[in-house]
Amino acid sequence: MDDDARPAARLTVLSGPSGVGKDSVIELIRARSPWIKLSVSATTRKMRDYETNGEHYHFVSRPDFQRLIDGGQLLEWAEFAGNLYGTPRAQVDAWIAQGWPVLLKIDLQGARQVRASMPDAQLVFLAPPSVEELKRRLIGRGTDDEETIRRRLAHADEELAAEKEFDRTVVNDFVERAADELVGLLGSSFLTPAQAPEH
Ligand code: 5GP
Repeated sequence: MDDDARPAARLTVLSGPSGVGKDSVIELIRARSPWIKLSVSATTRKMRDYETNGEHYHFVSRPDFQRLIDGGQLLEWAEFAGNLYGTPRAQVDAWIAQGWPVLLKIDLQGARQVRASMPDAQLVFLAPPSVEELKRRLIGRGTDDEETIRRRLAHADEELAAEKEFDRTVVNDFVERAADELVGLLGSSFLTPAQAPEH
């Protein structure tokens, strides 16, 4: 099956190394493209100053997170830099059933789980313009303590090497341009079955 003949993907995963700017790209999409449904993950991480509970994440305790796992309520989940993160299944399933394009911002381990459980999902890798630029952004972010930065730097090389597992790469050279490119990829997934190419 050639690429143009693929069925329309309803679910798109955005992944990429920590510090690459996924949050900034997502913020632009939240503001400008409300027809793209952004999944709200559950996490045990502490809330950052600019975050709102229920909008950026559902901030939960470890026991509550464990109950979500045990109840089979997560589409995927992973431990990242000492905290647990997971995608609640029910909201994603409902949006897909209603025909909305859904975007998940998740780490590499989560992207691999989605690839395994939903092979039609579109996996997009957000890449930095260079490795040096990524490390500069991670150190300069100012929201994390030294130990967290160290862990994220250690993880970055592994995350960069995973690019080849993804369907598409979007380079975050300028956040507006990168967001537009991503919206374009989601737009092409927002086809009704009647509009979708023959396959
Ligand atoms: P942050 O703490 O910077 O918000 O996120 C840390 C990492 O966790 C990022 O790579 C982010 O994409 C990832 N992440 C956020 N939500 C989820 C989720 O629901 N599942 C998985 N697997 N990773 C997530």
